[in-house]
Amino acid sequence: MKRKIVAATNNAHKLAEIKSILQDKFDVISLDEAGIRCDPQENGETFLHNALIKAHAAAEFTPLPVLADDTGLCVDALDGAPGVNSARFAGDHDDAANRKKLLELLKGKSRKAHFTCVVALLYPDGKILCATGEAHGRILEEQRGEGGFGYDSLFFSDDLGMTFAEATEEEKNSVSHRGNALKNLLQMLH
Ligand code: IMP
Repeated sequence: MKRKIVAATNNAHKLAEIKSILQDKFDVISLDEAGIRCDPQENGETFLHNALIKAHAAAEFTPLPVLADDTGLCVDALDGAPGVNSARFAGDHDDAANRKKLLELLKGKSRKAHFTCVVALLYPDGKILCATGEAHGRILEEQRGEGGFGYDSLFFSDDLGMTFAEATEEEKNSVSHRGNALKNLLQMLH
């Protein structure tokens, strides 16, 4: 039987990706399904710190292992920004405003960028496994594609030759920062 774990996210897109990537190994349930309401302040200075904040916050309400993910878009010409501030770059969790600000700041600049994702799996006994994944590409001058979320429609993946928003969920997961971080986490379980 697959072990049940709680994904500590209120983002439905992220949840769907995590469920799909881990489906062979874990029965991933949402915060809602676990009866947990929590939305902690992500005020850490690193992706790892924020992932741990989210994992610990949800773990207070469940005896199950908790998986948390913190992700950011890092743009070379912006010295790695928006980075850990990706969610509140222009407005708190306002994806459209964040994309608009990114396009404005990048006018005339190099578009090279990558996503970084850190995942943390926190067990009830306090043991924690952490892993990182990246996806490399560039920021387009306008959005392309209808799928995905966040910065996906502006991020042209070097691996796929299209934006993450043009890719199917399966294609995105096969090369994405989240897919890579979770694959690295799974390797630590063997
Ligand atoms: P967080 O990890 O939920 O804090 O997300 C930080 C920011 O990055 C939010 O603005 C998300 O919309 C965005 N984001 C997170 N994961 C992805 C992704 O896989 N693709 C595009 N944007 C993402």
